[in-house]
Amino acid sequence: MLIVMRQSASDEDVKKVVEKIKAMGWEAKPIPGEERTAIGVLRNPGETDPALFLDIPGVREVIPVSKPYKLVSREMHPENTTVSLGDGEVVIGGDRLVVMAGPCAVESEKQALAIASEVKNAGAALFRGGAFKPRSSPYSFQGLGKKGLEILAKVREETGLFIVTEATDHDVCDLVEEYSDIIQIGTRNMQNYRLLRRAGQARKPVLLKRGMSATLDEFFMAAEYIMSEGNNEVILCERGIRTFVRHSRNTLDLNAVPYIKRESHLPVVVDPSHAAGRRDQVIPLARASAAAGVDGLLVEVHNDPDRALSDGPQSLYPEQFADMMEGLRGMNVAV
Ligand code: PEP
Ligand code: MN
Repeated sequence: MLIVMRQSASDEDVKKVVEKIKAMGWEAKPIPGEERTAIGVLRNPGETDPALFLDIPGVREVIPVSKPYKLVSREMHPENTTVSLGDGEVVIGGDRLVVMAGPCAVESEKQALAIASEVKNAGAALFRGGAFKPRSSPYSFQGLGKKGLEILAKVREETGLFIVTEATDHDVCDLVEEYSDIIQIGTRNMQNYRLLRRAGQARKPVLLKRGMSATLDEFFMAAEYIMSEGNNEVILCERGIRTFVRHSRNTLDLNAVPYIKRESHLPVVVDPSHAAGRRDQVIPLARASAAAGVDGLLVEVHNDPDRALSDGPQSLYPEQFADMMEGLRGMNVAV
């Protein structure tokens, strides 16, 4: 349920509503807006009588929120959410398409710095790279761990690129929170509720990847876990879903983009690399995503993909990445 206050409502009026909600044993979440304040009511059991609040001074209307996800839904928060990095140098969900690029995994300082310099020159705003890798096989490269995070810190220092990197489990969250600018939660962890709650307590934005077989309702509920802990800076990432096809690793669900935009106020990014699984499909999918109105792209780039320790076949060469960025500008997308 959402209680919308009149423009003329005072802070005292808002406080009275919050107190009433708390007295009922529920949770109140004030949502200040440009034009008026609204107060979200959480943890109320099922249908609640609007009359409980309508006679409090300053209350304009009481809107039932029909969706099981409350904080994520546009019903509760009609304006788009933006996520700012630094002093607003990069804004995700604003007017520009924000491109995050880099290798699947940080392999060495030399590799990371070389790729970072290439993607920066081409116009990327963030460097991506896993220090902790969730691999399908226990025998595959699992990432450099803390050493990888230290390399990412060096990349930020030398290039000024912001860093997005994955927290694969609860135990590494403190470290990843310390070193990253955005904490990535991977597809395999989309329903790891303990990890989601921990990410919700972090003081960094979270990039949440859609589970490989998750419906959008399940995706929204996962984001709700993060937001319910107080972190409002969640970015939703469509990265391809598991289908029957054999011509790509996954199938990019581009329909998800307008649906998410309609149902939620959170920024949406697409990862065409994991959707495709093969280099030749990445650029067309990136362009299609930009045309569909995404707020950002997460793209794998490697300077020696044949020898990459993870996801080489889907990694763009730096020159291809530069062409992709040029093509986006040609589409009149501000990157
Ligand atoms: C990644 O970004 O390298 C990754 C492991 O992605 P996903 O969780 O989407 O498979
Ligand atoms: Mn990868």
